[in-house]
Amino acid sequence: MGLDEDALDYHGRAPPGKIEIATTKPTNTQRDLSLAYSPGVAAPCEAIHETPEDAFKYTARGNLVAVVSDGSAVLGLGDIGPEASKPVMEGKGVLFKRFADIDVFDLELDTDDPDAMIEAVDAMGPTFGGINLEDIAAPACFEIERELRERMDVPVFHDDQHGTAIISGAALLNAADIVDKELEEMEIVFSGAGASAIASARFYVSLGVRKENITMCDSSGIITADRVENDGLNRYKAEFASEGTGGDLADALAGADAFVGLSVGGVVDEAMVRSMASEPIIFAMANPDPEIDYETAKAARDDTVIMATGRSDYPNQVNNVLGFPFIFRGALDVRATEINEEMKVAAARALARLARQDVPDAVVKAYGDQPLQFGPEYIIPKPLDPRVLFEVTPAVAEAAMDSGAARKSIDLDDYVERLEA
Ligand code: NAP
Ligand code: MG
Repeated sequence: MGLDEDALDYHGRAPPGKIEIATTKPTNTQRDLSLAYSPGVAAPCEAIHETPEDAFKYTARGNLVAVVSDGSAVLGLGDIGPEASKPVMEGKGVLFKRFADIDVFDLELDTDDPDAMIEAVDAMGPTFGGINLEDIAAPACFEIERELRERMDVPVFHDDQHGTAIISGAALLNAADIVDKELEEMEIVFSGAGASAIASARFYVSLGVRKENITMCDSSGIITADRVENDGLNRYKAEFASEGTGGDLADALAGADAFVGLSVGGVVDEAMVRSMASEPIIFAMANPDPEIDYETAKAARDDTVIMATGRSDYPNQVNNVLGFPFIFRGALDVRATEINEEMKVAAARALARLARQDVPDAVVKAYGDQPLQFGPEYIIPKPLDPRVLFEVTPAVAEAAMDSGAARKSIDLDDYVERLEA
C-alpha cells in the first residue's frame, strides 16, 4: 500500500482518529463516583475558588496544553480550514504525549478574524497550562501570538515560528563551530519572509547574529527599505529590510556564509551555491521539496557544505519535534508564565550540546546504523533520541527559573532523576 492509503487506513480504523480521553482515578464504586463528581467534587472547587493556584493541584490543568489552529496555513497544504486541519492538530497531540507525556485538547476554530481568535483563546485560559498555536498564517500569527502572550498568564507559543527557529538555531550554532566562523561575523541570507523565516531571523539575532548581516528575500527578491516604502510591505518584513538597491536571491547569496530557506522548493541552483563564501552553511527547509536538493548542493563545491533540510531521508533534519514537547514539559513543570527568549535560547544551546556527545547504540540502530558523530552530517540530535528529554527539558526549566518566568522552583538534580525514571 502507498503512504496515502496507509494513512487513511491508520486514521480510519475504529475508533476514528488518534486520541481519546482516559481517566486517571478509580471509578468502580458509588463512592468513587461521588468523589469524582457531585457531591465530592465541590471540595476541590471550593479550594480552587479560594486559591486559584490549587487548580494545578486538583485538576489536570498543569499537564494540559491547547493546540489551537484556524487551519489557515496547514503543513504545506495551505489554507484548508479548521475542519481539515484536525488530523494535524490531533497528530500534534500524539507527539506531545509520546515525547513528553503532555495531554492535549486540539481546538480547531472557525474564524478568520485575528481579534476573534484572540478573544476565543484568551477566554479558554483557565482550562490550560499552556497554549500551542499551530498552523496560523503570517502575518496574522505574529499579532495573535503577541497579544495572547501579553494577556495570558500561561505560556503561548506559536510552534511554526519558534520551533523552527530553535531547532535551526541549534543547527546554526554547531555548523558555525564546525566551519570555524563566529555568528557575530556571519552573513546570512534568508529565502522566505513568512512565519518561520521572520521568527528564525529574530532568534538568530538572540543567538548573536548581527541584524545588519541578515539579508531577507521574499517572492519578489531582497527586502529593502525602498520596497517597504513603495510596496507597502508589512512591518515584520520591514524589521529586516536591507539598505541598498536590492536585487534577487542570487545577488544576495554571492559571498554569503549561510543560506536559510523557509520558502519554496527549487529556488537555489548550483551557481548560487558556488557563489557563496568558503564552507557554506545551507539550511534548505522548504517542505516537501527543499530550496535545493541535498545532493545538488553537496556536489556544487569542493569544500565542505553543511546542509540541513526538513526531510527525514537526509542528514540533519530540522524537525520541530526536537523542541515543542520538551520546551512545554520544562515550562509546565515550573509553572512558567511564558516561554521567553532565555528559555528558547537555553533549548537551542541544549540541543547543540547534545549533538556533540556520543550517540547511544540504540539510537544509531533506530536510524539504520548510519554513523552518527558530530560533524557536517550530524549537527542536531535525531528526533527519536531519548536523551533530548533529559537535556532540553531541564535546561528550559532552569532558564525559566533564572529569568523569573517560573512560578514554582524545583531542584534540577531531582528533576532530571524524575525525568529519567
Ligand atoms: P509562509 O509564512 O507562508 O511564508 C512563505 C514565504 O516564502 C513568504 O514570505 C513568501 O514570500 C516566500 N516565498 C514564496 N515563494 C518564494 C520564492 N519563489 N522565492 C523566495 N521566497 C518565496 O510559510 P512558513 O510557515 O514560514 O513556511 C515556509 C516554508 O518553510 C514551507 O515550505 C514550510 O514547509 C517550511 N518549513 C519547514 C520547517 C522545518 O523544516 N522544520 C519548519 C517551518 C517551515 P511572500 O511573502 O512574498 O509571499
Ligand atoms: Mg505546524
